[in-house]
Amino acid sequence: MNYTTKQIAEITQSQLIGNKDLKIQHIAFDSRSIYSVIKTAFIAINTPTNSGEKYISQAIEKGIKIIISENFHPEFDGITWIIVENSVKFLQDLAKYQVEKNPQLKTIGITGSNGKTIVKEWLYQCLWNEMPTVKSPKSFNSQIGLPLSLLQISEKHQLGIFEVGISKPSEMQVLEDIFSPKIGVLTHIGTAHSSNFKNEEELISEKILLFKNSETIIFNGDNVLVYNKIKDIYTEKKLISFGLENRNDVKIISDPENLNEEIKVQYFNEEFSFPANQRDEATLTNALALVCVMKELHFSNEKIIEKINALKAVEMRLESVNGVRNNLIINDSFNLDLDSLIIAYQFIKQYNKAEKTLILTDIIDVKEDEFSLYNKVADLTNEQNFSQVFLIGTQITRFKEKFKAKTFTFRKTKKLIESQQLEQLENQLILLKGARIFEIDQIKKHLELQKHDTVLEINLNSIIHNINVHKALLKPETKVCAMVKAYSYGLGGYEIAEFLQHHHIDYLGVAFADEGVDLRKNGITTPILVMNPEQGSYDTIIDYNLEPEIYSLRVLELFTHQLQLKGIQRKYPIHLKIETGMHRLGFKEYEIDELLAQLKKYNVKVASIFSHLSSSDIPEEKEYTLSQIEIFKRVSDKIIKELDYKPIRHILNSSGITNYTDYQFDMVRIGIGMIGISPTPEIKEQLQNAVTFKTVISQISEVKKGDSIGYSRKYKAEKDTRVATIPVGYADGIPRLIGNKIGFVGIHKEKVPIIGNICMDMLMADIGNIAAKDGDEVIIFNGNPTLEEFSEYCKTIPYEVLTSISRRVKRIYIKN
Ligand SMILES: *Cc1c(COP(=O)(O)O)cnc(C)c1O
Repeated sequence: MNYTTKQIAEITQSQLIGNKDLKIQHIAFDSRSIYSVIKTAFIAINTPTNSGEKYISQAIEKGIKIIISENFHPEFDGITWIIVENSVKFLQDLAKYQVEKNPQLKTIGITGSNGKTIVKEWLYQCLWNEMPTVKSPKSFNSQIGLPLSLLQISEKHQLGIFEVGISKPSEMQVLEDIFSPKIGVLTHIGTAHSSNFKNEEELISEKILLFKNSETIIFNGDNVLVYNKIKDIYTEKKLISFGLENRNDVKIISDPENLNEEIKVQYFNEEFSFPANQRDEATLTNALALVCVMKELHFSNEKIIEKINALKAVEMRLESVNGVRNNLIINDSFNLDLDSLIIAYQFIKQYNKAEKTLILTDIIDVKEDEFSLYNKVADLTNEQNFSQVFLIGTQITRFKEKFKAKTFTFRKTKKLIESQQLEQLENQLILLKGARIFEIDQIKKHLELQKHDTVLEINLNSIIHNINVHKALLKPETKVCAMVKAYSYGLGGYEIAEFLQHHHIDYLGVAFADEGVDLRKNGITTPILVMNPEQGSYDTIIDYNLEPEIYSLRVLELFTHQLQLKGIQRKYPIHLKIETGMHRLGFKEYEIDELLAQLKKYNVKVASIFSHLSSSDIPEEKEYTLSQIEIFKRVSDKIIKELDYKPIRHILNSSGITNYTDYQFDMVRIGIGMIGISPTPEIKEQLQNAVTFKTVISQISEVKKGDSIGYSRKYKAEKDTRVATIPVGYADGIPRLIGNKIGFVGIHKEKVPIIGNICMDMLMADIGNIAAKDGDEVIIFNGNPTLEEFSEYCKTIPYEVLTSISRRVKRIYIKN
């Protein structure tokens, strides 16, 4: 895209206020991840649940000069405005225009439930050096993502590969109207359907609307409903079905489990074979989709085989790990192109580290001329304020002069490591971005804080996803407090809070003042509620601007006394806890008159009134729960009547949100639900697993029938078998009581029993004839077994399991 402000206003029939000759090449919609302000406009997107106009000032602060918005905000100086009627529609109209203006473009549209992104990325790997190709970045596929992706199309492109995802009925029609692909690809559609669709059939009908005007439809025919529906509806089109089932036009006719045999494909009446390392069903099915598209584009079988052989895994995650000398390493050394570099630059915006270092290699898979490519890379990089840049390779190093930061060049990764310059890095955010062949993973290993095989892996995106699943049940204006007490339920300290803050969580909840202080020291500015404000900690609470739970008249008096001692002038925020049936902490109903009388005397502001449900997860206790809610309502009404402002009210925890949605009041407090646990099956199904405890096998031994395993000879082998020794024990938080076949761990996707007594740092498992070897991964929980299953072995609940994982187990954080 390359337009002036005037052209854009004309194309979309919008009103222009300001400079009509400014150039727009990019549109940013998330003010937090603006990575460049050159020729960039910010669009304030208004959706039913959020208004992007809140973030206009942030965008302007970052240097944006052009704002696209539904409303004009005259308070900002020197800004050019494009005033649109509907922000989402604006993007869609502009994208439609962009597609129509480029009739030379052959288009491929990919939809489905699983595999869209992999098929798209793989197709791109196969096709980019055959013809100029444009694609959607990573998994940019929504109502907003598709238009933004389409805006990248230019005259030079011949092929466009776009992912089209929907989450609700009637969305596809809108998208099909702006983007109607010549070749439609439908990947796997699972039987599970999201709750937004009545049933599987509705989901399928909606997705295949994308192909209304396609010439060819390439579809996964393993789902019989899909197969019949497409054959019924699209009788006039060229249809190609692929999959593992026999009815498909394109299928696999060899036995994938036989590793000595290549994968043999039948394509209508033709047969050919290709080698494959990964042979799981999803990978093979996705490969079939590639075969079909390449055939459709008239590739020879030899060429197709060559392309499939060259495929590389699509890694979709950026990994952040703590490094030595308080460095934070963001590792994205899986692939490198301009798109993924931009994503990495957007990503690092969310960290507060003052100093940043970039380690960047040659970009390999690109057909653009070097000069223009590395100029773009340097321009983008110069906008990120890195304090130093290390360039590795033979190409990029020739452009050293273009980089404004202190820049060093190396021919090879090894040379940088040998130079000892890495040893100088301290307190830095270090972004590692390299093409795979440079193996800059070596740098990560070099900088990483002590490497551990045993880790608790936390997926931060899943946490946000899970919050959003809960939020979808709530009114848009209901606030969310994330409970991050007890080291975020064992998952970690500020890392999680930082991510939640970045995603605009309204409140954070901790148990003790110390926990809140830790967050503040790490740059968390979100309001923090302290539920157990110990008497000795009032001073700290005030110093660090934490907000105490006040649960008795005594605490109110002591706390306000401290406020006076410190000479605090402003009305200090406090949170009143009401006792409604938990019988733990809180004001009893009969104390409220006295409380109200006292409140008038003190210089405090009741920021919120809340209570806690004892049994929101237990259906049999519905009556009790409702009575708690009733008391809460009555008491809080009474308090509010006496105040001349409205405090926030909240009572629901995670299972409260799902089971008592009607009583959300002004805020909810989510805890375990963030991690992916819910007692409600329909909710559980939508949640993602946010935590995995895993390690690797230290050693495998053959044992004979009758041999004893471990301390005290508590277990004797029942037959000849193989035993894996696994480096976690009760000191890591695995209860000793789950030894001797009470508990299981996961190896090669199977559950294998723990045998013998669990030791302090190790345990043993009977792996029978599973083809595992030393160093293979072991899942302690979440996967197979799940966290819930593991909790059952331990005769407890996930909360206790998580908070018992010892601090010596390294936490690592993954963001997709
Ligand atoms: C821990 C806690 C929560 C969160 O409970 P979950 O069941 O984990 O959602 C909510 N409110 C209070 C007061 C808590 O202590």
